[in-house]
Formats: sequence, structure tokens, C-alpha cells
Amino acid sequence: MSKFFTDRLSALIPYTPGEQPKDMQYIKLNTNESPFNPSAAVAEAVATEAGKLQLYSDPENTAVRTALAKHYGFDVNQVIVSNGSDEVLNFAFMAFADEKSPLIFPEITYGFYPVFAELNCIPYTQIPLRDDFSIDVEDYIGKNKTIIIANPNAPTGMVLSIADIEQIVKSNPDNVVIIDEAYVDFGADSALSLVDKYDNLLVVQTFSKSRSLAGARLGFAIGNKDLIADLNTIKYSTNPYNVNRMTDMAGAAAIKDNQYYADNCQTIIANREWTTARLIDLGFEVLPSKANFVFAKSDKIGGEELYLRLKEQGILVRHFTKDTIKEYNRITIGTKSQMQALIDTIISILGE
Ligand code: PMP
Repeated sequence: MSKFFTDRLSALIPYTPGEQPKDMQYIKLNTNESPFNPSAAVAEAVATEAGKLQLYSDPENTAVRTALAKHYGFDVNQVIVSNGSDEVLNFAFMAFADEKSPLIFPEITYGFYPVFAELNCIPYTQIPLRDDFSIDVEDYIGKNKTIIIANPNAPTGMVLSIADIEQIVKSNPDNVVIIDEAYVDFGADSALSLVDKYDNLLVVQTFSKSRSLAGARLGFAIGNKDLIADLNTIKYSTNPYNVNRMTDMAGAAAIKDNQYYADNCQTIIANREWTTARLIDLGFEVLPSKANFVFAKSDKIGGEELYLRLKEQGILVRHFTKDTIKEYNRITIGTKSQMQALIDTIISILGE
């Protein structure tokens, strides 16, 4: 740290992204990317737009916002897009949480939430999960706090029902409830169905997982138009051109190619069920996931050892060092042949 770094943030511990190693070609099952390329129409839209990069992007991102509004059945002013959903999550923390409306979220969840809270000097409380890693809805009823819940949760992959989410939203009418649906397209129900009923619900999604655009950085939030106006106040006070031209057009093209991405999601779901069954056959405990990853542990090998042994064999999974989950690994679901390679490698590691 330099002597110039502000005291206000001197204790900030930044988020650690998953490894992106360049030493060799790995089977990458560590950052929940899609194994499938973007559709041809997306590649074409990006190429066309690349020829116009001398011009700023549309600060209103009309192309992708209009496509999203039409696809999900909302008014365009109920939609904001961002540089990955991380950015709109940060905007939402800035806009809706403070000393008067501190944050609460599960103790085991997406590691960026405490970082954004610290960055914005927002007090927060982390609520323990039940022993089976499920969220106890009662912990979030009538709390008068700003709430963020990932549904499906990460890294567990476990879901709350829409009825449970509705109870949380309804019982905290004076605070915003943010539902982070980064993984919703792999089999969970979306809280978008509640958006027009509750003015305190903000639903955040991303193009990084189900729509194969992690590298383009595109996320979005949908909610009541006044919530979106507040998020725009933050956006226009930080970076009005937050979504670049190529990403704007890539996003619009991806929405129009919905069937291609929906089919890919079905393939991932089938591969997830196959992988879960194989891991259980091998004696693993696997949490019930509705995401494009599974969270698994074995009593035959420790979590860190399995992660390191797989890495030696060219397969990357995600291991977290936090005490309560250190025996687990989070394994992204890839193609069938990638998952077959994972299972074969685990069999050979356990057999040694
Ligand atoms: N929410 C959750 C729960 C995530 O796991 C991720 C991926 N790291 C994100 C949000 C952010 O993804 P992105 O910024 O790529 O949209």
C-alpha cells in the first residue's frame, strides 16, 4: 500500500477472482463460464460494431435494453445494463444501502457482497446458513434492512422458492430487496414475475453464464422505474459509457438468438445431472444445484488436495479456504466430454 492510499479504505480486502492461468491449456471448470461459443449472430454484430469504435457508445444502450424489455415483458425504463452484473450490484449497494438501511446477506454467498459493502462503507451482517447450507427465510422476514440474496445461491447452487422470496420482499416494504439471479437460467424460477407487484424488488441478471458473454461484460437489472432511475443517477455519476458498443450489440443479438442459448442451458442441466450422479456413485456428497456448477465434497480426499491434484492433471475447479466450506470444491458444468474427463481423473486420483 502506498502512503497515499486513503485511510477510509486501508482495511479493504479486494475480491479474488477465479484463476485465469496462462501456463497451459486447462479444462476450465473454475469460473462458471459457458463452454459454448456465442452464437454466429453475436460474433457478426461485434465485428460490425468494431468498425465504429472511434465513436462513444450509446449511453442509454438502447439496443440491448429494448431487446431485454421486449423479451422479458417490461417497459424499457425498467431496465438498466452494466459492465457485468458486478457493476450494477455495486450501483445498487451505493444507491440503496447506508447506515440507516444496512445490508444483510447469507454468510456463505457471492464473495463480492462484503467487498462492495466495505468499499461503500455500508454496515452489513452476514446471516449463517442452516447446517444443510439452505437459507432460512425467517432470518430475512421483516428486518427493515437492505437485503441481497443470490438465487440460486453461490457457491452452493441451492434455491429459494418464489413464494419464499415474495415473503421477504413483502415483509420489508421500506427497503430494497436485491435478488441476484446470475444462475437463474439453469433451472430456477425468476423473481422477475414479482417485479410489477413490488416497488422494492430489484432483480439482477447477467449475460456471463447462460448467454456465453463473460468476456463481453454485460449485466442488467430490472425493477420499478424509480429504482432504475436511482441506479441511473449512480451510473451517470460514475461512468455514463459503462457498456461499450460491441457489448451493446452483442447483447441485443444474443437476446434475439434466445433458442440457441436456451438449448445450451438444457445441455448444461443434463450434464449437471449426469455429473452429480457420477460423483454420488464415487461417494461424494453433492449439494442439490440449480446452477451451472455443483458444490461437492468427498470423505476420501480433502477439498484442497482434490483441487491441487486435479490442477496437476490439467483440470481447474474452484476451492475456497473459508473454514465451513474448505472440504468442498465448486465445479463448473461444461461439455459432456469435459465432465467425462473430470470423472475419469477423479477415479484415477481416488484409485492411487
Ligand atoms: N453474482 C454472482 C452470484 C456471481 O457468481 C457472479 C459471477 N462471478 C456475478 C454476480 C457477477 O458476474 P458478472 O459480473 O460476470 O455478470
